Amino acid sequence: MRIFDPHIHMTSRTTDDYRAMYDAGVRAVVEPSFWLGQPRTHPASFYDYFDALLGWEPFRAAQYGIAHHCTIALNPKEAGDPRCLPVLEELPRYLAKDGVVAVGEIGYDSMTPAEDRALAAQLQMAVDHELPAMVHTPHRDKAAGLTRTLDVVRESDLPIEHVLIDHLNETTVAAATDSGCWRGFSIYPDTKMDPDRMVALLRSHGTECVLVNSAADWGNSDPLTPRRVGEAMLAAGFTEDDVDLVLWRNPVEFYGLSGRLDLDAAEPASPTHEGNSVLRGGE
Ligand SMILES: [Zn+2]
Repeated sequence: MRIFDPHIHMTSRTTDDYRAMYDAGVRAVVEPSFWLGQPRTHPASFYDYFDALLGWEPFRAAQYGIAHHCTIALNPKEAGDPRCLPVLEELPRYLAKDGVVAVGEIGYDSMTPAEDRALAAQLQMAVDHELPAMVHTPHRDKAAGLTRTLDVVRESDLPIEHVLIDHLNETTVAAATDSGCWRGFSIYPDTKMDPDRMVALLRSHGTECVLVNSAADWGNSDPLTPRRVGEAMLAAGFTEDDVDLVLWRNPVEFYGLSGRLDLDAAEPASPTHEGNSVLRGGE
């Protein structure tokens, strides 16, 4: 089973996770830029983080046989913080880089006017850079959050077929499917979807344009949940080809819209990254 995890925050994970993911069949990941769990107080904190998503983390992933790409944005949780807004001015410089396969995660957290402005501005950046957009839906009041998100996407110049709407569940799947966007589901303990519920949604709403991710981060999460969905699909009578569509070909097609996906990226050209190795103490 080959697996592409289209949404995972490897910065928060250990090398043991990379090993376990490789053993489970993960060969590619996309790491969306997001919140750190505490507010950043300076725009420069974003730039060092973005540089790590474009440099160190792909290097680290390659040591474990996994191709790593990222999405870059001012995330929803910080989009209303005036200390962070200068980041919007710097984003075009990052969106031009080869390792960036979408603008994201963008979207709503609390659905404030400041978040409206950041979302609309970043959808336009996706248009300008010919990139797809990865849009997070709020954890509270999900149905209203999705409706408002879809309205803003429709008012933008970005075609809905170039938009992935993530963190969907039973309350939002129908409206998202009707809209024609790509649909993302996070299989995340306690607060999001689980494998059996995911299989039920694949039965009722199909496998086309569906992406399954772990959204694993610094919370109580698990980078192997996409593998569990694959196993649950097979146990429920889906074919190997259905599993491959959801866990590999759909994310390849969506992020392939960027024209920048390089799935051979898991071959490190150099044993060090800017003079630093993962082997602390040298070798
Ligand atoms: Zn995330």
